Amino acid sequence: MERTSEFKIVVIGSGPAGCTAAIYLSRANLIPLVLEGMQPGGQLTITTDVENYPGFPEGILGPKLMDLMRQQAERFGAIFRMEQVENVDFSKHPFEITTDQRVYVADAVIIAAGASAMTIGLPTEKALQGFGVSYCATCDGFFFKNKEIVVVGGGDSAMEEATFLTKFASKVTVIHRREELRASKIMQDRARNNPKIEFVFNSAVEEVIGTKEGGVTALKVKNLVSGEVAEMAAQGLFVAIGHTPNTKAYAGQLDLDPRGYVMLPHRHSTITNIEGVFACGDVVDHIYRQAITAAGSGCQAALDCERWLTHERITERWGLAKGEEENVDE
Ligand code: NAP
Repeated sequence: MERTSEFKIVVIGSGPAGCTAAIYLSRANLIPLVLEGMQPGGQLTITTDVENYPGFPEGILGPKLMDLMRQQAERFGAIFRMEQVENVDFSKHPFEITTDQRVYVADAVIIAAGASAMTIGLPTEKALQGFGVSYCATCDGFFFKNKEIVVVGGGDSAMEEATFLTKFASKVTVIHRREELRASKIMQDRARNNPKIEFVFNSAVEEVIGTKEGGVTALKVKNLVSGEVAEMAAQGLFVAIGHTPNTKAYAGQLDLDPRGYVMLPHRHSTITNIEGVFACGDVVDHIYRQAITAAGSGCQAALDCERWLTHERITERWGLAKGEEENVDE
């Protein structure tokens, strides 16, 4: 372990939220250190075309978009290091952040560590990520016009994704491992009443068949009651079995909700329950989870952080009752 380094601000995470925070901070001469984690660029680096990020009328590849965001932050001086945060100590100030390589101390921390889509865990699923296997219908559904798609999962996400995908697909088959769906009744009813959606219960996808060049062509599906394995034609596999926010390192220090998302106690602010620690992007958002919303909240975190550092008195105002916070800039 190398010795301690000091930075005014450490941004944890390098997806759209972390990169946008870094752009705003470095333009304000608050040169941040960005700890990129094990997946530099975040979830967009495992998608292919991004067609709904404003400013790119022809679309842009996810990894390319993240590379551009990083370059934009570096242009103003942000420092990126591919290090993984192992634990933090927010009980003292300046804060301490321990990575797999060294210990950092920082006056302020922005947590933009993102969330990870849960995977089924198949080698063939991993191999075809971005080539027919997707974890986001809003991002990738458009590429499956008139195709047969399988959605795995039985919760609200799976129902929502399946229903959304019927806008594009010729047929959507929901494969669920049990007999009963976990989804709320209203979401189930919506999916069950959709003529394009079929359900296959008590079943699990065992293998994804296809190539990077030709995409997905079929799935091997096992009936968990009979044990029988059959091949099912499909040109797309959407896995919708939940997301996990990357917040393990902060448990016990930051207030997290029961699902592990960072709770933000003040309306219109990205400050957490600890003054000087801000959170943005998918570690706080289980609803929208889009690159553009993450980028927007990264901008908010940078502005909140800058204002907190400049006028520490602002924290007194954050302590005011709800409803009074809107006057913070007056
Ligand atoms: P979820 O409720 O945890 O459901 C996950 C589903 O995936 C379950 O049906 C589970 O099966 C299945 N699953 C888990 N691991 C699996 C595996 N390895 N292989 C195959 N299947 C697996 O997650 P979610 O659907 O993402 O919802 C998360 C939360 O967000 C929920 O509170 C939900 O209500 C909310 N949400 C709300 C909306 C909305 O209201 N518009 C939309 C999306 C999500 P089992 O049932 O057998 O455990």
